[in-house]
Amino acid sequence: MRLQNFKTGILSCLLVFVLVLGLSVQSFAAQKVGKEKKFVLGWLSQPQIVEKFGRISDSIWSYAELGLQEYKSAKILADTLEKAGFTVERGLAGMPTCFVGTYGSGKPVIGILGEYDALPMLSQKGRVPNQDPVIKGAPGHGCGHNTMGTAGISAAIAVKEAMDKYGFKGTIKFFGSPAEETVISRPHMIRAGLFEDVDAVIDNHSSSGFGTSYGRGGNALFSTVFSFTGRTSHGASPWGGRSALDGVEIMNVATNYLREHLLFSYRMHYVIIEGGEAPNVVPDKASVWYYVRNSDERLEDMYRRVVNCAKAGALATGTELSIRVITAIHQRYANKAAAELFQKNIELVGMPEWSEEEQAFAKALQKDLGRSERGMPTKVGRLREPRGVFVGGGSSDVGDVSLVAPLATIRFPGQVPGAISHHWSSVATNYGTTAWKGLNAGAKAMAASAIDLLTKPKELKQLRDEFEVQAKEHPYKPFLPDDVTPPLDLNEELMKKWRQLMEKFYIEDK
Ligand SMILES: [Zn+2]
Repeated sequence: MRLQNFKTGILSCLLVFVLVLGLSVQSFAAQKVGKEKKFVLGWLSQPQIVEKFGRISDSIWSYAELGLQEYKSAKILADTLEKAGFTVERGLAGMPTCFVGTYGSGKPVIGILGEYDALPMLSQKGRVPNQDPVIKGAPGHGCGHNTMGTAGISAAIAVKEAMDKYGFKGTIKFFGSPAEETVISRPHMIRAGLFEDVDAVIDNHSSSGFGTSYGRGGNALFSTVFSFTGRTSHGASPWGGRSALDGVEIMNVATNYLREHLLFSYRMHYVIIEGGEAPNVVPDKASVWYYVRNSDERLEDMYRRVVNCAKAGALATGTELSIRVITAIHQRYANKAAAELFQKNIELVGMPEWSEEEQAFAKALQKDLGRSERGMPTKVGRLREPRGVFVGGGSSDVGDVSLVAPLATIRFPGQVPGAISHHWSSVATNYGTTAWKGLNAGAKAMAASAIDLLTKPKELKQLRDEFEVQAKEHPYKPFLPDDVTPPLDLNEELMKKWRQLMEKFYIEDK
């Protein structure tokens, strides 16, 4: 009986050991795992490491800083890299919250991307399965970017630890990339030459699943503010005035007629950000902010036609038009060889084990959202193939990076399946232990992939060869006009207003 207990004890210890490493025996057997890779997976599995980076993610979640205002979020990530021994350059490419951390020297140079900006109006208490804001109307992390920057730095630091231990050559770089939600930073970072020496880039995004994909995705985009300036007058004697709001309205009528004559791949949406303050004062200033989205091939023609609609509004109303491009970006071209390599590492790492409490929270949230109550996922996804000609949907400035270096995105788990992106339900799930485990799994897949690219020249060559062919077909020509600088003012007022109210809810290690 005693011996039996002893045996069971040893067995369960071994089982715990394997579980702690987060690796199934099967996946180890199926893939030959080198010592450097074993090391980074083990290093990231240490409970104190999971907790350390989990807490950083939770802090960034509580800061919930909007694009280009991510001062505290960028600082905590950059400081952590610096403390770990990285050389950190801050305030790059004209953006105070853009930074690059570098460790090692010489070729190859492997980059990891990381984001940390939040979204407006989504404030929500963490791990509360019904809508319950921390501060009503304040920003929140509804896309999981708090976990992404954190996953990226933890992967980079794990790789650095392996470099120190095994002495292999090369450079690991972490690219702290602000304002992804407004798709702003990457064209400026490329223009500043930050990716010039990079051989391959590992991108990541928070998700409910664990997987990757290749091929062309998303939409190219122009984000532009059209401003009209007229002449004010009394609303009851308006003949002396020229309404700037009329200019906006005529432009919007014209673009809505334009829709019929655009190929279905387009997306177009706008908000009027300035339109007067009282009906009895003719507004002399009005502005409308447009997102104009299409495939790389169709974007510029569509944009030119939208600009013509704006000109028509100004001409018809006798107002003056000014055009401010906030950003302009390409579609994404995910590298197949990179995605195949990342997929192997995703399968090696496997889906985290979720606790009963985590499953219960997931089901409660799913119930509140009217979704099927299936809890957290148990299996990693399969490699996703390209979706064909029409890919549509959202946009990311990661696209521009995919045109200057081979890149694919590792989607890592942590969000509850059925939680809605850019919605309070996503904010609720991006905090706490599911987010910690998810970002840790993502960090493992990234670190393992970086090890492959640093130590196996043949693997890296496959990515590079595919990229060289693509670069000939689609040479990088930025959509971003040469004279556009980062719009540092974009969220300044909004963040100033919320920051003072949010400060007392910051989650920080004192
Ligand atoms: Zn996102």
